[in-house]
Amino acid sequence: MSANPPVKVRFAPSPTGKLHVGNVRTALVNWMFAKGQGGAFVLRIDDTDLARSTAAFEQGIEDDLTWLGLVWDERYNQSKRFDRYEEAASRLKAAGRLYPCYETGEELDRRRKVQLARGLPPIYDRAALDLTEADKAAFEAEGRKPHWRFKLEGRRVAWEDLARGHAEVDTTSMSDPVLVREDGLFLYTLPSVVDDIDMGITHVIRGEDHVTNTGAQIEIFEALGGPTPGFAHMPLLVGADGQALSKRLGSLSIAEMREQGYEPIAITSHLGRIGTSDPLEVGASVDALGDTFAFTKMGRSPARYDTADLDRLNAQALHAMPYSAAQVRLAALGVDLGETFWNAVRPNLVKFGDVVDQARIVQGPVTPMIEDAAFAEAALGLLPAVIDETAWSAWTSAVKEATGAKGKTLFMPLRLILTGQAHGPDMATIIPLIGRDRMVQRLNGETA
Ligand code: GLU
Repeated sequence: MSANPPVKVRFAPSPTGKLHVGNVRTALVNWMFAKGQGGAFVLRIDDTDLARSTAAFEQGIEDDLTWLGLVWDERYNQSKRFDRYEEAASRLKAAGRLYPCYETGEELDRRRKVQLARGLPPIYDRAALDLTEADKAAFEAEGRKPHWRFKLEGRRVAWEDLARGHAEVDTTSMSDPVLVREDGLFLYTLPSVVDDIDMGITHVIRGEDHVTNTGAQIEIFEALGGPTPGFAHMPLLVGADGQALSKRLGSLSIAEMREQGYEPIAITSHLGRIGTSDPLEVGASVDALGDTFAFTKMGRSPARYDTADLDRLNAQALHAMPYSAAQVRLAALGVDLGETFWNAVRPNLVKFGDVVDQARIVQGPVTPMIEDAAFAEAALGLLPAVIDETAWSAWTSAVKEATGAKGKTLFMPLRLILTGQAHGPDMATIIPLIGRDRMVQRLNGETA
């Protein structure tokens, strides 16, 4: 029997902005790993920074995740857990691992510049460790409040990273991280560790920009008595041009993509699979994405985020969408013209909203494109009395015989006249929906 606890992961966004494709990729990889292992997915709102966090952004995060189908099993707000962080901070202080510092930002800057000028790494010099009680009292009397740093052990911290393999961070090359600011604000580093322990998180999965952080956090896990979870650090996203996306992420919000008409399954299939060896295809459902996921499929190079891929997946999702799934949305757009219509037009859709344009082919108005009036007149004369599913083939055979037109020169002019467009749905299926009256009008050159 395995002694391993069931997998439990967390997605921990800060409600200081909208969710963007980078966040959602992190959420998805957590989700897929959890689902694939039969584990739990926790949503943790990292809102210790009360000044920057807003209820609107928090709501936005929930709305976006729900829309994408990423349903959380448990949910927490860090802002409701300050007593736990206080308790952890007290324990670290008692153990001599959290120490007060009184330097101002300018003082620290000056020291860094001096270190750099001497060719030394700009690491905090731990001067505060030498402060006597009298020194501290003097600072306090001046009105200074301490910020608190975690005393790193300064060693090689190593772990087996699920995404990167053997990983090591040398904490001697790092400044002791500030865990509590002078205004009492807990920076993300400590609350995250306290929560991961309290909530029984088994794996921390996040971007590789957190690797150094992990070195310090593993020391904090150990200082607090652990257990230390497993870690996976994913390569970051780059754009189609190979440039880091981080600066552009603000404009790649899920809310905006939703407005632009992207399907949630296209977004999740795309973000869940870029940077892995899985083919970039639409998954059956967001739940099913976990079935094939494995960290061994994740490459070490950055994942390319290309809108062209997303568009292709979006079209693929629409082409496979059954009428039952489309019906309510068709009705909302006022174009629920039945299952035959949906099946005929869905191969032409890139975004769901394109269906309105397709409905115009059936409901009008269409301005016919007539290049050869004699051809249109001949076709009109041969139009069958009843337009059913067999009408197209009978009609085009007759027009072919009468005009000598065949292949593209036969079908394209008829399509242009009847739909006003060079591309569109299967004509045999769509003409019974257009109906004979409108066909006659369009063949006569009338907008109908
Ligand atoms: N709130 C942190 C962030 O968004 C969470 C990082 C983590 O997953 O530990 O960067």
